[in-house]
Order: sequence, then structure tokens, then C-alpha cells
Amino acid sequence: MTLKFVPSICSYCGTGCGLLFQVMDGQLVGTLPMKTHPVNQGKLCIKGWNLHEHITSELRLKHPLLNTFGRMTKVGWDDAIGFAADRLKTIVAEHGPDSVGVLVSAKITNEENYLAQKFARAAIGTNNVDHCARL
Ligand code: SF4
Repeated sequence: MTLKFVPSICSYCGTGCGLLFQVMDGQLVGTLPMKTHPVNQGKLCIKGWNLHEHITSELRLKHPLLNTFGRMTKVGWDDAIGFAADRLKTIVAEHGPDSVGVLVSAKITNEENYLAQKFARAAIGTNNVDHCARL
């Protein structure tokens, strides 16, 4: 039996608490707070303590689903991204770039948030960018 402690950052909110994933024989089995992390100093909220359950949940989406008239169909990433890109292009062509808004999230990294706003401004051509923390 092997037990490893893998350092990581909680992805549930923008606070960014440090944690240690407990990995036993290659399986994620628990989450512990990182005592030396400057943000949380050995503490986690209830969401952080249970992060491993979210990661290993059977209910977690692991592939894209395409909604066709209310019926969800499993598709590949290329098909999902191609469909979304085609729909965005059609909407922008028919209604203009300001008909689109991009909502970013505290549950992704700063770098991903930056890329999303860059995509909105440079690719779509709109300044309609907002963040879930303001809702
Ligand atoms: S442990 Fe709680 S406060 Fe810390 S990052 Fe996760 S959700 Fe946010």
C-alpha cells in the first residue's frame, strides 16, 4: 500500500486555499488543508474538505453533451467546439458582436479568465465581459 500527499489549490472559489490530496494506491481518497500555505494557514471550508468527492463523483461530466431539441447526446471535443464556434459566428454575423456576452468564473484560474476576456474582445469584438463574483 502506498500513500502520497499531492499539493494542490482548491478550485471551488477564488480564495485559492492550499491543500494536500491523499492518494492511496493511485486512488484519490481524501483532502487535507496545507498548514504551510499562506492563504489558508491550515484551514479549509467545508467545500475544500470535500473536494476529492467532487473530483471522483460518478455524476461529474467527463465529455461534452450536445443538446438537440432537449435530447442530450455525447459528442467529441472537436464536434462540441466546432458547433459552439459555428453558432457564435452565426450570432455575431446576424446580430453583431455586442449580442454576445462572456461570463467568466472564480472557479477557473486567473490565466483562464484573462484568455476568456481576450477572446471576447479580440475574437468576438465585444467588451461584454463579466464575472460570477459580481452576480
Ligand atoms: S477551501 Fe473554501 S475558501 Fe478555500 S478556496 Fe476552497 S472553497 Fe474557497
